[in-house]
Amino acid sequence: MENTIRDLDVKGKKVFLRVDFNVPLKEGRVADDTKIRAALPTISYLLEGGAALIVASHLGRPKGQVKEELRMDPVARALEGHLGRKVKKTEAFSGEPLKKEADALKPGEVLLVENIRFHPGEEKNDPDFSRELASLADYFVNDAFATAHRAHASTVGVGEYLPAVAGFLMEKELQYLLGVLKDPQRPLVAIVGGAKVADKIELLKNLLARVDTLLIGGGMANTFLKASGFDLGASLLEEDKVALARELIALAREKGIPLVLPKDLVAAKELKEGQETQVVPADGLPRGYMALDIGPKTVEDFAGYIQKAGTVIWNGPLGAFEVAPFDRGTAAVAREVAASPAVSIIGGGDVVAAIHKAGLAEQMTHISTGGGATLELLEGRELPGVAVITGGGGNK
Ligand code: ADP
Ligand code: MG
Repeated sequence: MENTIRDLDVKGKKVFLRVDFNVPLKEGRVADDTKIRAALPTISYLLEGGAALIVASHLGRPKGQVKEELRMDPVARALEGHLGRKVKKTEAFSGEPLKKEADALKPGEVLLVENIRFHPGEEKNDPDFSRELASLADYFVNDAFATAHRAHASTVGVGEYLPAVAGFLMEKELQYLLGVLKDPQRPLVAIVGGAKVADKIELLKNLLARVDTLLIGGGMANTFLKASGFDLGASLLEEDKVALARELIALAREKGIPLVLPKDLVAAKELKEGQETQVVPADGLPRGYMALDIGPKTVEDFAGYIQKAGTVIWNGPLGAFEVAPFDRGTAAVAREVAASPAVSIIGGGDVVAAIHKAGLAEQMTHISTGGGATLELLEGRELPGVAVITGGGGNK
C-alpha cells in the first residue's frame, strides 16, 4: 500500500502538496468548490501538524502559457474561506520569485502556487522543473487523485527527488477503488452505462474478470442489444463494436457471469425535451425511434441484483440523463443503490453528475473525484501519480 501523511512528522517542515483544484469558474469566482472541500482534511491535518504548505494545482488547459482567465486567485479566495486563515497566492510559478516566497513560509502558513500548467515543463514532466519544485520543500504529498493518470512534474516528477506520500483523499480513493478490484464484499455487482462501448472496452474486460454480475445500460447497451440480434433503429450505436460486444457476451457466459442487458427501453424520435416517449421492449423499438433510457422493467430487474449485492460499482449513466425525462432510469437505479445495504462506489464524471442531480450523493458510500483517473484505475492500470507514492524515487 502507499505511504500516507500519517507516516510523516511534518513539524517545522515544508510540504509541497499537489491537489486537484481544477474547479469550474464563473464570473471570476469558483462555481463549484467540491474539489477544494475534498482536499481540506489533508490541508488541515498538515497545518495542525506544524507544516508550512506549498499547495499547487492546475486549472483548465493553459498549455504551458500564462492565461489571465486561468489564474488561481479565485481558488485562493475560496480556500481561504474554507480554512479561515490567510492563503498567500504567488504570481510566480517557477524561478527565484517562487523560491523566495516558499523560503519565507512559516509553519501553519499556506502558499498557493499560480496555475502550475502555466509552466511548459509541467505537462512534459520536465526533470529540471521537477527538481526545482522539489527544492522548495522537504516532502511531497500527492492528494490529486483526479490527476493521478498524468505523469507531470508536479504529480510525478517532483516525487523523484523528495519522499512522496499520499494525502487523505488519495488514500480514500485508492482504498475504495482498489478495494473493489482486490477484495470486495460479494456479490460484486457492476453497473456500466454511458455513451460508448469504445470508451469502456478495457473497463468491461477488467470487470468481467472480477464481478459476479454485470448490468449494462445507457447508449452502450444498444450495441450489446444489436449484438443480441435486435434492431436499434436510429439509436446511438457503434456498428464497429458489435462484434466486440458479442465477444464480451460470450466471455461472460463462459465465466458464468450474468451480463444483464435492458429488457425495455424509453424511446423517442429525438433527444430533446418535451418529446413524446414510449416504453418499448428491447426487441420492439418502433421505426424512427431511438432508445434514450432504460425502462421500468429494466430498473426492476437491476434492482433485484442491487438489493442482494455486497458491493455495487457504477460507471456511466443509464440514459441521456441531461435531458428530461431520460434521466429517470438513472435516478431510479440510483435510488435502489442508495437503499441497498451494499457498499456503493460511484466513478465517472457523468454518472456522478447524474447522482448529484438526483440528490442522492450523500447516500453513496464513495463518490470518486476522478474521471479519467478513476476509469484507468478500474481498467486495472497502474497510475503514475499512484506509483510515485508506492515507492517512487524519493522513497527509495
Ligand atoms: P461517465 O462520465 O459516467 O463515465 P460517459 O462519459 O461514458 O459516462 O457517458 C455519458 C454520456 O452518455 C452522457 O452524456 C449521456 O447523455 C450519454 N448517454 C447515456 N445513455 C444514452 C443513450 N441511450 N443515448 C444517447 N446518449 C446516452
Ligand atoms: Mg463522461
